[in-house]
Amino acid sequence: SISVQKNTKAKIWAIANQKGGVGKTTTTVNLATALAACKKKVLIIDLDPQGNASTGLGVKVDARKQSIYQVMIEGLPIQQAIHSTDVPRMHVITSGVELSGAELELVNASEREFRLANAIGPLLDIFDYILIDCPPALGLLTLNALVASDAVLVPLQTEFYALEGLSHLLRTIDRVKRGLNRRLEIQGVVLTMYDRRNNLCEMVAADVRAFLGEKVFTTVIPRNVRVSEAPSHGKPVLLYDVACAGSQAYIKLAGEILKKERAAEAAVA
Ligand code: ADP
Ligand code: MG
Repeated sequence: SISVQKNTKAKIWAIANQKGGVGKTTTTVNLATALAACKKKVLIIDLDPQGNASTGLGVKVDARKQSIYQVMIEGLPIQQAIHSTDVPRMHVITSGVELSGAELELVNASEREFRLANAIGPLLDIFDYILIDCPPALGLLTLNALVASDAVLVPLQTEFYALEGLSHLLRTIDRVKRGLNRRLEIQGVVLTMYDRRNNLCEMVAADVRAFLGEKVFTTVIPRNVRVSEAPSHGKPVLLYDVACAGSQAYIKLAGEILKKERAAEAAVA
């Protein structure tokens, strides 16, 4: 049911940060939804054994038999694992409970860092964007995502410890770039759960911008209760309440990213 379009090559982004609870899943689901709203064909790959993205999109557990686990470990053709969502033009490959074992199963597997990269080829002329929601660890699953990706998008929770652990992530990205995937770039860092009433947030944001410069997106994602409610309704916040500040921020982030991409393409041409 998914039509193949010619002359496109999907851009693949890993949404990664080894810290849990920083907004990876929320950013994956809602940025993907915002891109789909901009007429892009988008695929979410849920690479976290917890399956929060799959649940947040309302995919029932018994509909997840053909998941990313079967693709990476059992060699299921990746097209057979694609599910539709309530969002037009947006699809998902779910995670499943078996994925929690994959981290160990991969240790002695051949091509263990390349399982996802090797499988993803048939999707490149189907989608415009493929967003991979990574687990909160820098293990083999996240490595598979980094090896398969063109760029990494890092959500940082705007809190006192925001930068802690970031150098470890940046070193890992650099190592992957030098050893396993030369095309890997840092797409950008997005500040999440920003609270304008909290003075600390401004200080943290200034620190992060001083440290990472232009890599930090201008758009920040505010802390917004509608964002945290939406997953329990099995919906992206953009479908749950498009007018809320969280939805508007993700629309703005998609706009900022698309604009940055057009500028980069114009510079190459
Ligand atoms: P991660 O995938 O990095 O573990 P999540 O995206 O699951 O992080 O977010 C962690 C928790 O914070 C979730 O309960 C989510 O609903 C909530 N959350 C994320 N972003 C926001 C936001 N902008 N405003 C309010 N709550 C948020
Ligand atoms: Mg998550």
